[in-house]
Amino acid sequence: MMSDSNPKTGAQEGLFLVKNRLLASAALAGRPLAAITLVAVSKTFPPADIEAVIGAGQKVFGENRVQEAKAKWPGLRLIHPDIELHLIGPLQTNKVVDAVRIFDVIQSVDRPKLAKALANEMRKQGVERPCFIQVNIGNEPQKAGVKADEAAALLSFCREIGLPVVGLMCIPPADERPEPYFAQMRDLATALGLSQLSMGMSGDFEAAIAAGATHVRVGSAIFGYRPRA
Ligand SMILES: *Cc1c(COP(=O)(O)O)cnc(C)c1O
Repeated sequence: MMSDSNPKTGAQEGLFLVKNRLLASAALAGRPLAAITLVAVSKTFPPADIEAVIGAGQKVFGENRVQEAKAKWPGLRLIHPDIELHLIGPLQTNKVVDAVRIFDVIQSVDRPKLAKALANEMRKQGVERPCFIQVNIGNEPQKAGVKADEAAALLSFCREIGLPVVGLMCIPPADERPEPYFAQMRDLATALGLSQLSMGMSGDFEAAIAAGATHVRVGSAIFGYRPRA
């Protein structure tokens, strides 16, 4: 992976370009930069590339697999204790112990059984991890997330069991204009009284920011080409 180039220069350049895009879209939307968190998605990239991006000042990262994060992040966190790590991929209940240990924020809560397991584990470990409910906003069979009209029920269940839900997360359909989906997500978050909205990736985060995203999850535009798993 990127064996002939210097990954340090590449990823730092990527971060710089993404930050400029973020700045421009925040300004265009009339939103303060401080209202938008850039989550640098480091899945599939090795610690050396991540180190370069941390060295350029980035503190918030996202990974989509518990096992991969478990291999990469404990070492990085020893050196960089102020990192905030988000889980953005599907979570199986048998990995909840590790997930609560490794991640600061869980963005992929999508069913009552998982919510219950997370709430129990947080209690057991004596920690609180802010969570997002993942919404399958395009109703795509291959994608995780609750249907938009099921989000309210899952949110009340989470509140009943004491799981701290702070927002909604989505991945809109890949082959359509994302704007209508982002707008639906914004309206749903408003209706549910949730202030945080995680949406927008390398190709569409400007549109997400225009629609009110508080978290954008950007991978390839920072780290470069990522062979599909
Ligand atoms: C990989 C991934 C991203 C980042 O995608 P890019 O197109 O590389 O920016 C964002 N969100 C989730 C859930 C992902 O799995």
